[in-house]
Amino acid sequence: MKNLNAEYIEKVLKEGENPTHEQIEKILEKTYRREKLSHLEVARLLNASENEQIEKIYEIAGKIKEEIYGKRIVTFAPIYVSDYCVNNCKYCGYKRDNKFPRKKLTIEQVKQEALILEKAGHKRLAFESGEDPVNLPIEYFLDCLNAIYESSDIRRINVNVAATTVENYKKLLEVGIGTYILFQETYHKPTFEFMHPKSLKGDYDYHLTAFDRAQEAGIDDVGAGILLGLYDYKYEVLALLIHNEHLEENFGVGFHTVSVPRLKKAEGMDLNEFPHLVTDEEFKHVVSIIRLVIPFTGIILSTRETQEMRERLLNQGVSQISAGSITEVGGYVEDEEAKKAGIQKEVPQFELSDERSVLQVINDLVDDGYIPSFCTACYRSGRTGDRFMQLAKSGQIHNVCEPNALMTLMEYLDDCADEELKVKGKKFILSSIDKLKNDKIRELTRENINRIENGERDLFL
Ligand code: SAM
Repeated sequence: MKNLNAEYIEKVLKEGENPTHEQIEKILEKTYRREKLSHLEVARLLNASENEQIEKIYEIAGKIKEEIYGKRIVTFAPIYVSDYCVNNCKYCGYKRDNKFPRKKLTIEQVKQEALILEKAGHKRLAFESGEDPVNLPIEYFLDCLNAIYESSDIRRINVNVAATTVENYKKLLEVGIGTYILFQETYHKPTFEFMHPKSLKGDYDYHLTAFDRAQEAGIDDVGAGILLGLYDYKYEVLALLIHNEHLEENFGVGFHTVSVPRLKKAEGMDLNEFPHLVTDEEFKHVVSIIRLVIPFTGIILSTRETQEMRERLLNQGVSQISAGSITEVGGYVEDEEAKKAGIQKEVPQFELSDERSVLQVINDLVDDGYIPSFCTACYRSGRTGDRFMQLAKSGQIHNVCEPNALMTLMEYLDDCADEELKVKGKKFILSSIDKLKNDKIRELTRENINRIENGERDLFL
């Protein structure tokens, strides 16, 4: 992959050190005009360290976010189907050296988990699993995915499973997955090899080229990620953008989403052994720069982050958040049972920092003026890959995604909310409809909201 090597990235980062105010101003003007930045310009943004520069970066990231996405925030929940894993990733609670009884949900259990998530209001899931070709062959994943689609009202399942072959990606495509998500964890090859010793996942080149194979198989929505804390974050962000360029050049479309997990304490690892942990300030810087440089790519934040940090970053670039997440295999059913019986729960893959329920998250979003969206319309209308990007780039998110978000919020209120949120949410929907700029769309949205209140479901533009 052109330029995705340490020598080049380190050279550009060095060249971009100590940017002047004028340089940062000029770069921000370019981002505001949605012009593509050079690697050196990205390096300058990453090296900006003076308060004035940082504040300006945050401000423009927030403006760009609002212009493109408006007030819409996509919500989803993870579903963990198995913690069997042949890898030994130094940072992960699922590593093979951690000795604990491993679980693999039966198809019946997968359906039960999905039903609980559906009851909580979710329409969009992130499917998660460890890697173990013997215990977890692709057929098992396909059976799980089919079972969820067939037995629940879940409408889109994004899949985060280990890098695989073109043939297997074709099978995932056939089942109708949403985004194929795979975190690179770190783009720095020596660090990648150190973090993933003697394992399937340890093959840097195979992992890095997974999206090429997914694209080749026809999956055109791919979601990247960097596990912040493994290596220098400046290196990771620049490398991430170079990876995105590679996909744009070769397949006409870059990342659909980017995830930015920060390393958390997990079983069998000590955070003190990771010298590159990212501070809160650095983290905000990272998110803002990703928003500036790939403005049309969704940025996902999980419940690894605190409520405070999540709310702050919604203003600076984050467009998707998980809600009511449990990261244990079979955790949703267990949680229901534990709540009933008052039992202590077991060790998750990593610790969570935002344990609010879906209802609380939706309530808080509405209070802050955001439109929680359970929408999955693009994917079901075939607007994936470059077709979604065209929609985003032409500013149509306001005319299509925002009304759709309001419709799914109405469904949520009717099906899952308590009385207080119903009243507040309905008022919020009506005032949000009034703000829609296009007369025809405004009317159509009003009509659809009425139809949903009268019991119809799954309406979208
Ligand atoms: N097994 C699959 C793979 O290897 O790509 C995927 C899924 S894993 C369930 C999802 C992600 O959790 C990993 O890609 C990693 O970035 C993240 N993760 C693992 N340990 C973590 C930790 N201690 N703190 C934060 N995130 C972690």
